[in-house]
Amino acid sequence: MHRTPHGISQRLRCFGESVFTRISRLAVEHGAVNLGQGFPNFDGPEFLKDAAKTAIEKGCGQYARMVGVAELNQAIAQRVRCDQHLEVDPEREITVTSGCTEAIAATMLGLVEPGDEVVLVEPFYDSYPATVSMAGGTLRTVRMQPPEFRLPVKELKAAVNARTRLIVINSPHNPTGRVFDDDELASVADLAIKNDCLVVSDEVYEHIWFGRPHRSIATLPGMRERTIVLSSLGKSFSMTGWKIGWAIAPPHLTAGIRAAHQFLTFCTATPLQHAAVTALHAPPSYFETLRTDYGLRRTALLTVLREAGFDPIEPEGSYFVLADHTRFGHVNAEAFCEHLIRHVGVAAIPCSPFYVDPEGGKALVRFAFCKTLETIALAGDRLKGQLQPLAS
Ligand code: GLN
Repeated sequence: MHRTPHGISQRLRCFGESVFTRISRLAVEHGAVNLGQGFPNFDGPEFLKDAAKTAIEKGCGQYARMVGVAELNQAIAQRVRCDQHLEVDPEREITVTSGCTEAIAATMLGLVEPGDEVVLVEPFYDSYPATVSMAGGTLRTVRMQPPEFRLPVKELKAAVNARTRLIVINSPHNPTGRVFDDDELASVADLAIKNDCLVVSDEVYEHIWFGRPHRSIATLPGMRERTIVLSSLGKSFSMTGWKIGWAIAPPHLTAGIRAAHQFLTFCTATPLQHAAVTALHAPPSYFETLRTDYGLRRTALLTVLREAGFDPIEPEGSYFVLADHTRFGHVNAEAFCEHLIRHVGVAAIPCSPFYVDPEGGKALVRFAFCKTLETIALAGDRLKGQLQPLAS
């Protein structure tokens, strides 16, 4: 006899199926152009595929080192030195994980005690609250308000206290497209230092920005020793399925992350780690081209959305655009996205799952532009004339 009729543990029951899984399934069912889940519908660079093939042929078929293939840890350290002018010890401060998603889970499980408070900023990536719950942490949230979506410094001040273990930030930000400026980063740093807590900085969109360059909060005075920087290969090299991520943290925090990682996945695919070394050594022109290409896709999607009758929010970074759908008369974002998939043939993500109270995101939908210009144009053709604003 089971003690509970539920198959899902209490810790995870309230999270249900991820919005990305659900919307991608609906998109396939209805043949909709998928501007929902954030994965490129084009492949990563050939030089990267060649590097993976070479690694497989060389016979990298066994487990990698738990902390990451040595050359990859070094390549990550070199990248961070070059991009953020941070010196990190590849052996004691870097852990290679199965994508950033595992790094998030390992950070929560390895560093949060039951009852510790974790401060999240709404709208947030859906795996943050789920992994806080897995770790037995207590959630505190603050909210960024549209259309500026600036970090709410006053609210943050009220939310951070002696019980706070972590403040989680994400810049460039999914889903708002914000790239936090120096003032915003300094406010978080100031709070973390005053309250002696840690900052988890999810920087997976670090190379995708369109104006103000991304800056890691770890570069601010006093922050290197209290920041866990998380990133990955997926977005920067259009290989989200390779699942190569990493966590960078001072040795005593890395110890916690590794304590969890060794029992979560132990290590991620060995040949792909070797290929990732080649990726991270890419010349500056690679990253410039990535930004130029994303700039074109961003412009294309903004144009398509404007022509369809939206007033989209221009993203400063990441590959997402938010738009308010309420002028089209649907009760909430779920209903609007359902309509869009079934009757227009375009899939987008309702923002409700990015808030503790789904009401918080009910006016907003997220469109992804990590798609070819042809795909974005096709979405534009389908959207044309299909959405009627309510008479005001
Ligand atoms: N990061 C992707 C997004 O925001 C989704 C990843 C996933 O489906 N787990 O769309």
